[in-house]
Amino acid sequence: MFNNKEQCKEAITGRLKTQLGKGVEKATERDVYKALSSLLQSEIMKQWKKTNDTYRTNKDKQVYYFSMEFLMGRLLGNNMLNMKVIDVVDEALKDLGFSLTNTEDQEKDAGLGNGGLGRLAACFLDSLASLGIAGHGYGIRYKYGMFDQRIVDGYQVELPDHWLNEAFAWEVRRPEEAVEVRFEGRVTSREREDGQLDFHHEGYETLQAVPYDVPVVGYNGDTINTLRLWSAEPSDKDIMHLAHKYHDYSHMLGHQRTHESISDILYPDDSTLEGQKLRLKQEYFFVSAGLQSAIKKFEQLDLSWDQLPHKAAFHINDTHPALIVPELMRILMDEKQLSWNKAWDITLRSVSYTNHTILSEALEMWPIDMFRAILPRIFMIIEEINNRFCHELWTKHPGDYDRIGRLAIIADGQVKMAHLAIVGSHSINGVAKLHTEILKKREMKYFFGTFPERFNNKTNGITHRRWLMHANKPLSNVITDVIGDEWKRQPTRLLNLLKYQEDASLLDNIYNVKQHNKESFSDWLYKQSGIMVDPTSVFDVHIKRLHGYKRQLLNALHIMYLYNEMKANRTPQVAPRTFFFGAKAAPSYHFAKKVIKLINTIATVVNNDPDVNDQLKVVFLENYSVSIAEKIIPATNVSEQISTASKEASGTGNMKLMMNGALTLGTMDGANVEIYEQVGEDNIYTFGLRSDEVLKYEREGGYVAKNRYHQDERIRHTVDQLIHTSPFSDDGTEFKFIYDALLTYNDEYFVLKDFSEYIEKQKMMNRDYKDVRQWSKKSLVNIAHSGAFSSDSTIEAYANDIWNVKHQQVVLK
Ligand SMILES: *Cc1c(COP(=O)(O)O)cnc(C)c1O
Repeated sequence: MFNNKEQCKEAITGRLKTQLGKGVEKATERDVYKALSSLLQSEIMKQWKKTNDTYRTNKDKQVYYFSMEFLMGRLLGNNMLNMKVIDVVDEALKDLGFSLTNTEDQEKDAGLGNGGLGRLAACFLDSLASLGIAGHGYGIRYKYGMFDQRIVDGYQVELPDHWLNEAFAWEVRRPEEAVEVRFEGRVTSREREDGQLDFHHEGYETLQAVPYDVPVVGYNGDTINTLRLWSAEPSDKDIMHLAHKYHDYSHMLGHQRTHESISDILYPDDSTLEGQKLRLKQEYFFVSAGLQSAIKKFEQLDLSWDQLPHKAAFHINDTHPALIVPELMRILMDEKQLSWNKAWDITLRSVSYTNHTILSEALEMWPIDMFRAILPRIFMIIEEINNRFCHELWTKHPGDYDRIGRLAIIADGQVKMAHLAIVGSHSINGVAKLHTEILKKREMKYFFGTFPERFNNKTNGITHRRWLMHANKPLSNVITDVIGDEWKRQPTRLLNLLKYQEDASLLDNIYNVKQHNKESFSDWLYKQSGIMVDPTSVFDVHIKRLHGYKRQLLNALHIMYLYNEMKANRTPQVAPRTFFFGAKAAPSYHFAKKVIKLINTIATVVNNDPDVNDQLKVVFLENYSVSIAEKIIPATNVSEQISTASKEASGTGNMKLMMNGALTLGTMDGANVEIYEQVGEDNIYTFGLRSDEVLKYEREGGYVAKNRYHQDERIRHTVDQLIHTSPFSDDGTEFKFIYDALLTYNDEYFVLKDFSEYIEKQKMMNRDYKDVRQWSKKSLVNIAHSGAFSSDSTIEAYANDIWNVKHQQVVLK
């Protein structure tokens, strides 16, 4: 695209002139961002078209990855990296008096997701394109993405995320590909001549789903796939219908507005069920639009319907898009006149499902009455799927009401989305070995008994392009200097680093790079917020959604304990440390918000106490997001992965941090178990209850938090500080809720149970940090094994085992 620096400078100045009417001397960083992104987008367009042409000519099978969330973050840096122009742009910008980082910082995050689940979808898109697999994302173009978090007086305040205020540089609106989506109304049936029933949906309301396409640039810029985000707009038909219905203009506009609001907001809670009508409408909206557009593409190939499973794979990322199953049935039967059996066979062969959680409070269910009112035809189809499924169960296990009751899709007045997804998919996967085992042995054991061949594991992954090559260029360079750059194409080659475990100069370089990153991060933090941290201290980092099971509270209580120890002049610390937290709480999650307030209270106490603040510091990073993750992860020494065992399905933050040379302090949960298997016990710090122990306590009882409190003076003292007059609480009311969660409600997440082992491991790590060589060696071992967690491997496994699609289709420039 740019052959050299001069050409690049010329292109940027040229674009500034033609796009913004400005000379480079008047241009702001924002202007430069705009010019640069527009230059890239023009280049991307050409190759995007070629990719689509190739797919059409070759009739390649397409994967459609349906996800309510795509946490993309910023695209400029990633696109420049994947198009291999980032270095030349860096030089050109310098010459023009701008910096690459500042230019990248002009872009607002595309925050169309809550956390891990949405970020996984984004990493998968990057890997699909980079491996040359025809795989596309289908989601919702939320007008407001994840809320912006501000901390005011220690409390979280949520502000709307106006990410579209400045036009989003990468999207292309395609009104010509809009489709109609229908809600409400009635269904009538008529017998056809061949005896089959024809169903008619009448009296419905319609809206337009308009796609906005975002290019997904693969590494090398060869393959450019599509993230298609659907936006709800009023349809012309519906406007006529409404005008007829309302007579009154302002009423009509109000009604129209409620239709458009379907794509307004991302629900900011990833751990509890959002039982709202609007949420169900959102789910059907993008599923229906996505399937209709994929089916149109398929029809252009002019093949018979049994070819559909060979030309399209529809993936359900968590249960949110589970309506794919009945909607595909509806399209095939009602619109394409296929029989039930034919349609069911095609559906089953085309659809696959990933389960992301065993938390029961997160399982999606919809009250029958509400569901039927909003989606009458879809409800009928689900009823029929359920009847046939229950009948089959009855034939296999006559009289076993209990089993049928547990597995039914419709039961207890609810439509159960996970059951629908399982019954309608040929593949069901968990997201880490442990998680999949728990699904098979416990949470879904009856389903596993019914469909054993459908269950499989696909451990999550992360793209090493964004999380190592782009986020941590200094480390990336050190690696390449030693083992060459094949690891960029094949990240498992990072294992070659293991040969250099005793290489003193490499170990020094790893240490120096980390030090350098800690300094850059500290500078950024200071500029951003005025907070000063000591870059020679241990950077201990806990970044993820705020949730009881992720146990930020355990970390916070430990800091309180450390503070108390230091104040009492006991066990002087060996290495000074800075504890960083980054976390958003769901706006309605009272406990989580109290934990944020507690962390900020601890920060105020600790950071302002001259007795300790040269040894101990606590920082709450406001508005944790992908771009903040990219800044702090390269600067991290200790990665906190301390969920209650069995609760974190996989985790991906753990992988990003490991890849950047942080050492994990974690429980044997999710993918931590696999990190442990990779690096070996000397290179990870594990502690706490095992998942089977947690599950046993949950089933059989036997854990009494109050006993831990009475037996352990450290726990008693620290926990009491939450409600007694103490440095952390003046009137004792602020943190009463947390205190009660621990003692009155018996510590659901086993915080006190794991407390003493956590203290021990913290101590051990702090001592070990002193031995710089040893630490760097452990760090090296972690980096070397992190290639196993590249999403390229994960996607290859999905492609081979689930989607049955080819990879490495070379699209020639
Ligand atoms: C990776 C990532 C997550 C997921 O972190 P976990 O530690 O796996 O929960 C959440 N949010 C952002 C912004 C991320 O980049």
